[in-house]
Amino acid sequence: PIYLDHNATTAPLPAVTQAVADALAAGYANASSQHEPGRRARRVVEQARGAIAAALGARTAGITPDELLLTSGGTESNNHALQALLGPKPAGERLVISAIEHPSITGFAELLERRGVAVDRLPVDASGVVRLDALPELLAKRPRLVSVMLGNNETGVLQPVAELAALCRPHGVPVHTDATQVVGKQPVDFQRLGVSLLTFTAHKFHGPRGIGGLLVEGGLQAEPLLYGQPGAQRPGTASVELAVGMQRAIELWQAEAAEREARMRALRDRLEQAITADDPNAIVVGADAKRLPHTSCVAFQGLDRQALQMALDHAGVACSTGSACASGSSEPSPTLLAIGAAGGLSEAAIRGSVRFSLGAATTAAQIDDAAERILSICKRLRRRE
Ligand code: PLP
Repeated sequence: PIYLDHNATTAPLPAVTQAVADALAAGYANASSQHEPGRRARRVVEQARGAIAAALGARTAGITPDELLLTSGGTESNNHALQALLGPKPAGERLVISAIEHPSITGFAELLERRGVAVDRLPVDASGVVRLDALPELLAKRPRLVSVMLGNNETGVLQPVAELAALCRPHGVPVHTDATQVVGKQPVDFQRLGVSLLTFTAHKFHGPRGIGGLLVEGGLQAEPLLYGQPGAQRPGTASVELAVGMQRAIELWQAEAAEREARMRALRDRLEQAITADDPNAIVVGADAKRLPHTSCVAFQGLDRQALQMALDHAGVACSTGSACASGSSEPSPTLLAIGAAGGLSEAAIRGSVRFSLGAATTAAQIDDAAERILSICKRLRRRE
């Protein structure tokens, strides 16, 4: 099959698999142990931490485990970022998120709401860009945290996070951004963005599954999500091999960042052009906005997204309807509904939206083949509807 679901997960590059296997074979000591093998394992983890922090524009000299938490992935990093609000007396605290966050943010925000935290949700405009006009009013209410993603997983639309952080900073309100879909796709500079916390996960950029990170400005002490070694923000035995695998994946991206981005963008445009040239009822969601290079959300007006996704699966094109976590559900995605509420998408467009997402190894031949199969399936389904 032609795999166009890289926003759900990517295949680890061969050099990553090798690095993980080598690290697994080389060391079995616990990186928290005081003996020499333990110290050696710790050095490997710390080297990986430093290399990852450097690739993301974070402070690198002597970066501590509290400044770059190695987590199990994006979900844990996002949960951890919001966990700080779940202190001893959460009732009365305020949190600001956007209407298009990943379920690992919205799910935790709903828990906080049940505990008495007031959660405000910034809306989006018709292109799917988070609107900041309501922010000054919300900042006056002194929220504990603002959390807005850097690039949307369903539409690929980039969000004005640097601008948001500049507005929050004078009020002393920390900003968290979920950069899961952006890291490894286009450059991310933690310090220049001006945020206090940033989430990422290795399996979205051809690294291993089961490891991610949370950058934390100044090692801000928050309520931990997990409890174990006293004082540790992220207790638990560090996975040396996954840390090494994530380091290798980020280094491979750095080595070809500009080419990889340009290549994916050109292929993404090629796919969209082929589809929209042939199908007058297909529209690209967020086409007017700045977008990630590898994500294309296409609304096939008049078709049903689930029927289309299943027919494409049969025809050998793997894509998705909304976020992977919500697939299997027949509910339209909150992100597309938020764009619809802003007048950017009709009900028919939301009903027919599917997502194609490209990876580092996607080829022009695959894109041309996929476009042909997609158009032929659409014609067949349209004749039936
Ligand atoms: N945030 C976004 C924007 C995502 O796309 C995903 C992946 O589905 C996550 C968070 C969760 O990441 P993980 O699968 O590593 O928990």
